Amino acid sequence: MNSFEILPGDAESTVILHVPHSSTVIPADVREGIVLSNDELAAELAAITDTHTDVIAIGAANRAHVRPWRFVNRMSRLVIDPERFPDEREELNAVGMGAVYEKTSDLQTLRTPTADERDSLIARFFEPYAAAMAQLVRERLAAVGKVTIIDVHSFPNKAKRYELHKSDARPELCIGADDFHTPEELVTATREAMSSALFTGEIEVNQPFAGCYVPLDQYGSNRAVEAVMLEIRRDVVAANMSELQAATAALVDTVQ
Ligand SMILES: [Zn+2]
Repeated sequence: MNSFEILPGDAESTVILHVPHSSTVIPADVREGIVLSNDELAAELAAITDTHTDVIAIGAANRAHVRPWRFVNRMSRLVIDPERFPDEREELNAVGMGAVYEKTSDLQTLRTPTADERDSLIARFFEPYAAAMAQLVRERLAAVGKVTIIDVHSFPNKAKRYELHKSDARPELCIGADDFHTPEELVTATREAMSSALFTGEIEVNQPFAGCYVPLDQYGSNRAVEAVMLEIRRDVVAANMSELQAATAALVDTVQ
């Protein structure tokens, strides 16, 4: 099984829905490097997986007038986290939650890899993922001239111990925006499209999670690559799936 999957959209689509954290799959040899019991691992996966964010993306793709492309991680973020920097730029390295997690979301030991084991996980899973996403973005730019990446996540109602900004608000929707790649109109379009899927419409920008995913070869250099992150609180995901699918499709239609 590939560690990720690219599901094609329409030839004229400018949108890529990116789903990095919805899977619970861990290859057997990677599981061997994790020190948790099976019960502890199941609890950690329940805590850390963005369950059903892939279903939001499927429904949005099916409902959008122009079908967006989808890039979906088919492995758990406990294998590697494709959204972290693989080097010292990553602020979550400080708590053992960089690209290769060493701690659980409760800051217990998850694995204690040697440098070689860490490098091997990066080479097998992180680098091919980043390269494939970067290539997809370049292909879409060549085909249609601009790309909007919509990153689909969920987050728990209560802060996990690993989080660095635990005192931030926990709105129904956190919009992750980047100074360079997220124009104000994209933030506005996201607010307007997504508010219909929320209970009361509580939305914050960049809290409790900040930023959005852009391939490094475009990051900070190409304004034709726009990006926004949807971090949806998990009680909203549990209650409002079809509304979230419709709202995300409306966002896709707005930015196409
Ligand atoms: Zn996530």
